[in-house]
Amino acid sequence: MCSYEGAPGRPGVPRRSVLRGAALAAGGALLGGVAGLAAPGAALAMEEPRIYTRSEWGARSPKRAATVLSQAPDLIVVHHTATANSTDYSKSHAAALSRSIQNHHMDTNGWDDTGQHLTISRGGYVMEGRNRSLPAIRAGDHVVGAHTADHNSHTVGIENEGTYTSAEPTRELLSALIETCAWLCLVYGLSPSSAIVGHRDFNATSCPGDSLYAMLPRLRTDVGARLRSLEARLVLRDEADLPEEHLPTYPRVPVDERAVEFYHGPALGSGES
Ligand SMILES: [Zn+2]
Repeated sequence: MCSYEGAPGRPGVPRRSVLRGAALAAGGALLGGVAGLAAPGAALAMEEPRIYTRSEWGARSPKRAATVLSQAPDLIVVHHTATANSTDYSKSHAAALSRSIQNHHMDTNGWDDTGQHLTISRGGYVMEGRNRSLPAIRAGDHVVGAHTADHNSHTVGIENEGTYTSAEPTRELLSALIETCAWLCLVYGLSPSSAIVGHRDFNATSCPGDSLYAMLPRLRTDVGARLRSLEARLVLRDEADLPEEHLPTYPRVPVDERAVEFYHGPALGSGES
């Protein structure tokens, strides 16, 4: 049913040492990313998907306000939620999912707030995650999340509703994921070919599931096509611009990972809170 396919791994990414990304890393990502457009701000706003805010899904107040870094993240991490592959594709279900994830993260995990920046339901609804995420993204800044252990200071996390060990996401979810990743690449000046990664690229987990992970090469291609369709002269960062410690480590996927609703692998490192 779905045409997505591709090799699951992305090892051996060549690294080049260049200075090309220096201007972007210095804070010019937003303007640099869409340098060829007459009105970059307007273009960014036009590309922003409909994202339902925390007040729209009925979020609880966080225990503490999230930390906002005045810098762009350099990677987009794709997750699954490790919840049922629901056939309720409604907006109200998407809102309820966001509330249940937040309850789990705050009450069971003891975190300050929900951990991811964005959540996409199987109906294709995109919901804001951790507090301050949406304003921060629009400003080209980064909220420190809780979704990929030891890498939360430089990665933006998207949780995709469902369990994709064998099943595939819905077309609505994939379409929303393409749209969301394209917007993030545009805002942050990221190259989709290198910026879109899976949780398992950093931590010992099966997340986002074999099936969704195998779709990432096609996702990168589709997001790249969407960006090219803007006919902007895009200046995007890629692997060559990443510091060594930010590069994926591709740990072994555990064969006996515990199957618990909402648990999709290590989300916080020892020095992260
Ligand atoms: Zn994950």
